[in-house]
Amino acid sequence: MQALQVGKVQVTRAEEMIWTISPRFLFPQLSYGDLEPHRHWLVPHFCEQDLKLRLSIHSFVLRTPHHTVLVDTCIGNGRKRDVPLWDHMTSDYLRNLRAAGVKPEEVDYVFCTHMHVDHVGWNTRLENGKWAPTFPNARYLFNRKEWEYWKDTKDENQGEVVRDSLLPIVDAGLAEIVEETHRIGDEIALLPTPGHTPGHCSVRLSSGGQEAVITGDMIHHPSQIAEPHWFSRVDWNPELGIATRRAFLEAHADTATLILGTHFAPPTRLRIVSHNGGFGVKL
Ligand SMILES: [Zn+2]
Repeated sequence: MQALQVGKVQVTRAEEMIWTISPRFLFPQLSYGDLEPHRHWLVPHFCEQDLKLRLSIHSFVLRTPHHTVLVDTCIGNGRKRDVPLWDHMTSDYLRNLRAAGVKPEEVDYVFCTHMHVDHVGWNTRLENGKWAPTFPNARYLFNRKEWEYWKDTKDENQGEVVRDSLLPIVDAGLAEIVEETHRIGDEIALLPTPGHTPGHCSVRLSSGGQEAVITGDMIHHPSQIAEPHWFSRVDWNPELGIATRRAFLEAHADTATLILGTHFAPPTRLRIVSHNGGFGVKL
């Protein structure tokens, strides 16, 4: 994705990785045949020729006239993780972030759409054997509902995430608990989109008459725009997730709102249109 402007806000994508997986890995109810009717618009950007899903893991960098804001912080390096590819990973994420023109010390706010493993990792990095904030001058906005749900989790893998990527932020005094109606300046507002997790929030950008929404995992993959009832293996409440997704699609179809997908492979941005009584995509 090229850097783009939403009014006065510049949006840049900083990539950690492109991940290619079988549809069933993400959507337990699917087979390759379910994707076949969508091949003509999913390949080559969002699916491989064999219809494996192409997912991107990236941050969005938002530059407003007053602040530099990072939305989602990917997986991170050097962590114990249960997904083999992510375990003790070494990626060029920080280099990519710098290539996008962002020095870690320049970030004013970090917001994670939710607190899953692939959205909070670079909150921290290892310094002298300890997890320290990667963005030392940032306020890290923790959505109260999301943090309350995860902070004492008994899940072993998620507990690891809390210990290495979230608690060090609290201990450093950089966490700011916010409500799901929180705004950052005039241009950026949280948009509650529960279902994937209890406190999941998308992010709405409004400036100069233009609008964009960063999806988070409300929509993991563009195929879910055409098939909103496809739910992911890791959805906390699939029924609520489906209802949230449908309402979002209905509200944004045939509007000028730019949809910025948190896991959409490049070109990453698209618009939602009405199609055959449901929804489709315009690149
Ligand atoms: Zn995710």
